[in-house]
Parts: sequence; C-alpha cells; structure tokens
Amino acid sequence: MKTYKIAAIPGDGIGGEVVSAGVEVLAAIAKRDGKFAFAVDHFDWGGEYYKRNGRMMPENGRDLIRKHDAILFGSAGHPDIPDHITLWGLRLAICQPFDQYANVRPTRILPGIKSPLRDVGPDRLDWVIVRENSEGEYAGVGGRAHQGSPLEVATDVAMFTRAGVARIMRYAFKLARSRPRKKLTVVTKSNAQRHAMVMWDEIAAEIAKEFPDVAWDKMLVDAMTMRMVIKPETVDTVVATNLHADILSDLAAALAGSLGIAPTANLNPEREFPSMFEPIHGSAFDIMGKGIANPIGTFWSNVMLLEHIGEGAAAARLMKAIECVTANPRFHTPDLGGKARTVEVTAAVIDAIGAENA
Ligand code: ATP
Repeated sequence: MKTYKIAAIPGDGIGGEVVSAGVEVLAAIAKRDGKFAFAVDHFDWGGEYYKRNGRMMPENGRDLIRKHDAILFGSAGHPDIPDHITLWGLRLAICQPFDQYANVRPTRILPGIKSPLRDVGPDRLDWVIVRENSEGEYAGVGGRAHQGSPLEVATDVAMFTRAGVARIMRYAFKLARSRPRKKLTVVTKSNAQRHAMVMWDEIAAEIAKEFPDVAWDKMLVDAMTMRMVIKPETVDTVVATNLHADILSDLAAALAGSLGIAPTANLNPEREFPSMFEPIHGSAFDIMGKGIANPIGTFWSNVMLLEHIGEGAAAARLMKAIECVTANPRFHTPDLGGKARTVEVTAAVIDAIGAENA
C-alpha cells in the first residue's frame, strides 16, 4: 500500500482547529479508499513557537519537510506579533524557497450556500484564480531609511522576471485548457503600471500562441472587480500578479458565501519541492477556541492535495462528500448563518465519505 507523508503545520488561531479536522478527514478518505494511507507529521510552528524561540520555525525547518509528499497548512498570524513577521517567518519562508510559484484558488458556490450576489448560483459562478506566488509586489525588494525621522523613506519594489511571468502564464493557459470552457482572463494594471504590467501583457500574447484552443482576454484589475460582481458568468480561469490576485481571491471567497469555505494550493508544478495546501482564511482570533470555525476551506484544500498527489478518485469522492454536507443547513457554521460546530461538520463529512459509493 502506498503511504503518503504529510507535514501538518496548523500555525495560529483557528489553524489548529481546522487542520486537526482536516487530518481526520484525510484519514477517513484513505480508509474508505483502502489503497493508500497517510503518515502525518505535526509541526508546532507559528506565533507561539516564535514567543518561545524568537523565530516562527526552526532554522532547519524546511529540511524537516522537504521530503514530504505535501504540506497541510492552517494559518500564520498572531495578535502580539506584527503580521509581516508571521507572514515572512513561516508561510512565505516555505512558499518561496520551495518555489511554490502557482497559487491556485478555485471558487464555486457549493450546494446549500448562498452567495451575497442576488440571483447567482453555481451555474453563474465557477472560477479558478491563479495567483503568481513567487515575485511581483511580494518579492521583498525594498527598504527603509532614516527610520522615525521626518526624512524617512520606504520602498517596496514590485519585481517581475520574464521567466517568472512566462511560467505562471503557461500554467494558467494549461489550467484553462483543462476546464470545460477553455477561457482565460489575464488581469493587469498596464494602463498605470507601464513597465512590468506591459511586459505581462506582451508575454500573455506570446504564450497564447501555444494555446490556440484557449479563448483569452485582458482586463484591468479595477474593472475586473466590477466584472466579477456584475457578470460573474463571463469569468472562468483568471491569472494575475501576487497582489492583484490576493485581493481578487478574497473578493471571490466572499462572493462564494464565506471566507471559511475557500481553499488554496501553493504548487510547485515541477514537483522539485512539496506543495502546500491551506484554507484561504487567516487565523480568525475572534472565534479561536469557540469550536465554531468552518472547516470546509481546509477540507476543500484536501481535495486539491489529493488531486496533486494523483489520487483523483479519492479527491472526487471527498468533494462529493463536502457538497452533500454543505447542502444541509443543519451543518452550516455561524459564518454561514447556522449553528453547527466544527466537530459536527467534520463528523458529517466523514459519514458522507463512508456513505459515498462512487
Ligand atoms: P489573519 O490576520 O491571520 O489574516 P484575520 O482574522 O485578519 O486573520 P481572517 O482569519 O481571514 O482574517 O478572518 C476574517 C474574519 O472572517 C474572521 O474575523 C472570522 O470571523 C471570519 N472567518 C475566517 N475564517 C473563518 C472560518 N474558517 N470559519 C468561520 N469564520 C471565519
């Protein structure tokens, strides 16, 4: 029997609650399948670890997870620690050296979930946003001088390379081609940002020639927010920079009903390093420890994890189980207007996996 090694990094806030639910669901799906198993190693990295050790993860942290088949991540963020430390010290400290350059974020309205958009159901909203995850506005290039003085200066330089843009563009075109509508929207801000964003547009046009069967269009990011709200059915696959897609995907998550549902995969498509799967939401300290965190975003991330490791049938089975559970309002957590608790949703998904005949 094949055993996949999973590194579980719950992180902070509700991360612990949703990742332990996610690990239970992974065990259930493996048991149901019977042909593979998971060996899960837990790593207590994050804000509390920082308070004890002065860093978010050990110096050799990446070496400890480099050989795992996948990483299941919760969230990094702590009320007592500045966000840039928690982000750069853990999540980005894994994503960037492991070259997880494709951040993939599917959005659909699941059965039983209501979009805040009037008259919009699953038939009008089915998107995948591909976020460039290795450079751009989050490259970490910049600095500060004369700190605290009236002369203080600070820069964040958005850095785009031809290789970086070409590889994410190619990934996005391939993904668009694999979906029924074969449709890609390339988002930039090439009217105002006249260097790097113009290069994005040029590279998009070049790569598009390799994919004559994919229909593609260009959109400025501000106009894209309107299109997502007003004409969601015209959108399918979207590719955008690190910053632009970060914002668009939070909008997408909200339009799909709740931040608690949305999943994401940080992929190293060449598989030289493990890829990382996580819910889109953050540590949500306001609901931490209350037992009401919605675990669906983590379960859907597990679906992406299963697809990535090549267990497509198990992925489809888990997605069906999730949809069967969201269809029943009895299993809606408070973020969806219900009263269900994390453990009840988890138990319902595990039951549905067992009942699923597919
Ligand atoms: P961070 O700084 O780590 O990004 P945050 O609290 O600023 O965390 P989120 O964690 O993304 O941002 O959450 C925003 C709000 O959405 C939270 O206050 C919480 O009420 C709600 N929320 C997020 N995730 C969930 C979830 N899984 N279940 C229920 N509510 C959630």
